[in-house]
Amino acid sequence: MTEQDFAVPLEAPKYYRPDPSYRERSWIGDYQTAYQKFVSDPEAFWKARAAELDWFEPFDEVMQWDFPYARWYLNGKINITYNCLDRHVKNGRANKVALFWRGEEGEEKAYTYSQLLRQVCRLANGLKRIGVKKGDRVCIYMPVIPEQVVAMLACARIGAVHSVVFGGFGVNALNQRIRDSGSRVVITADSSMRRGKAIQLKPIVEEAVVNAPSVETIVVLRRDEPRVELHSEMEVDFEELMENEPHTCEAEVMDAEDPLFLLYTSGTTGAPKGIVHACGGYAVGTQYTTKYVLDVKEDDVYWCTADPGWITGHSYVVYGPLLNGATVFFTESTPDYPDAGIWWKLIRDYGISVFYTAPTAIRMFMRVGEEWPAKYDLSSLRILASVGEPLNPEAFEWFYHHIGGCRCPIVDTWWQTETGMHMITTMVGEPMRPGFAGQPIPGVFADVVDSDGNPVEPGNGGYLVIQQPWPSMLRGVYNNDERYRQYWTTIDSVYTATDLAVKGHDGNIMVIGRADDLIIVAGHNIGTAEVESALVSHEAVAEAAVIGTPDPVKGNQIKAFVILRNGQVGSDRLVSDLRYHVRMTVGPIAMPNEVEFVDSLPKTRSGKIMRRVLRAQELGMDLGDLSTLEE
Ligand code: ATP
Ligand code: MG
Repeated sequence: MTEQDFAVPLEAPKYYRPDPSYRERSWIGDYQTAYQKFVSDPEAFWKARAAELDWFEPFDEVMQWDFPYARWYLNGKINITYNCLDRHVKNGRANKVALFWRGEEGEEKAYTYSQLLRQVCRLANGLKRIGVKKGDRVCIYMPVIPEQVVAMLACARIGAVHSVVFGGFGVNALNQRIRDSGSRVVITADSSMRRGKAIQLKPIVEEAVVNAPSVETIVVLRRDEPRVELHSEMEVDFEELMENEPHTCEAEVMDAEDPLFLLYTSGTTGAPKGIVHACGGYAVGTQYTTKYVLDVKEDDVYWCTADPGWITGHSYVVYGPLLNGATVFFTESTPDYPDAGIWWKLIRDYGISVFYTAPTAIRMFMRVGEEWPAKYDLSSLRILASVGEPLNPEAFEWFYHHIGGCRCPIVDTWWQTETGMHMITTMVGEPMRPGFAGQPIPGVFADVVDSDGNPVEPGNGGYLVIQQPWPSMLRGVYNNDERYRQYWTTIDSVYTATDLAVKGHDGNIMVIGRADDLIIVAGHNIGTAEVESALVSHEAVAEAAVIGTPDPVKGNQIKAFVILRNGQVGSDRLVSDLRYHVRMTVGPIAMPNEVEFVDSLPKTRSGKIMRRVLRAQELGMDLGDLSTLEE
């Protein structure tokens, strides 16, 4: 693929430059200097990062690479919960708030580091009592509540492998994941709250464990009054399980390469994959990136809006921030309930200083209007961050102006369930180029290459790859080694992320879509993100998704599905306007032939647009795996 193959925007690059004090005070300092230092001795770099954690026994080698299997921190012994909890309790953070939680109706809970450690130990002891052992898989299917975090940490405490399933999934998705992981225990709650309504989870679990013979016990947290009945053959009460347990529990000594958890990908491009992460490297990677990429400091109040049920929640709600001894805020509430001002109110009320969210949320807020954030004092914010999909320039600008007060750097982090930690971003303090995620972080060798693996010249597009192993890389795909090997063999000897990207002349990388979603129009490769981003930059448009539909002459033509902003009405005139707008911003080749106005787009439960569903619907094909589709 070459430059001409992609419809790269032609206008001169535009940068936003944060106040120099950001760089001066950041953990990372000057990006180029830090990156060069890493390149000069990668092993020393990752050794130094590991030294920021407490090990029960030191490792004797940083990394061993037996293509395509890497082992990190060989023979090192560690427990991530010791590093998340005990270490802080011993080092002066015992009474620092670890978790602030807020429910939909305004209920609040706070756990200090020593309180959280005690809860985790009690549940860990309870799990041991019902027979959970090191290496057993435990499925966690819970709402976003402190007990969800406690359950994850309790598993990690005793070396059980957690498999967290997002609490919004239905019976089939849950059953699939319980069966694939062979979970022995399921930890759940009776209900979760959504927009003022209690959603019953227990009946879903009851159905999902039918035909899941590995399950021996279901642990149920009962939130509602009157309390739901438990079936004593299989079900135990969460609180009773903990009640008489001692509040200390020796952290299991884990080998660095022992599995820590498995987690299924979002299922945006196909059936979800069970990604396996290892104890040592994952701890090093998430500790490092939370500190150096999100620049979290001792007195920050940190909020990442992801559900702990996704990788962003694992790495940047739970493990990364707690490894750094940060104060984490999180909430069960939805962004538009009771109204679209709730998040901004929470930022004001809790004095949030680092705020990490997703483009899908930002675009939703753009649609409802900037009058909502304008009502609240957001001056506590210091750093903004984004993950999940490309942050299109329009959304970047809105986030920067209306939330960040033209003051806060935006850290657009590109990474995946598979990578475990951030890979590409613009470090705090560096010039930000809207539409471009940025450059590989120190510690990572990433590039844009052609199908033979040769780096493309700046200004060109191709496949996003990672060229060397990294500590928090996936160790496998559960029950599917073939799929694991594919990541490393699609393009010879490098890790293929299956995303398409363009490398700018300034070295910045723009993610332009999924390789699976690539649209080839008359021999030109069109990345979906680019056309969608052009559409969203039109004042009438809130959100857009494009797909290719067959065309006898051009091979494919582009069809756009468009959600309008509040108050806008679809018309033929608007269709022409939008087509013209894309012609002018991206070029004639990217112009949609068809524009359909819709009220919603098919999305994964984590908020990503599922273009494969639109395509299948349009072409009357089988819709494929829909287990992760939002209702
Ligand atoms: P599946 O692999 O099952 O199709 P998924 O890829 O959506 O699902 P995740 O691991 O949750 O599952 O998401 C990772 C993907 O999200 C990346 O490969 C990329 O396509 C997209 N992504 C994440 N962060 C960014 C970002 N900052 N900019 C652009 N794209 C991003
Ligand atoms: Mg993926």
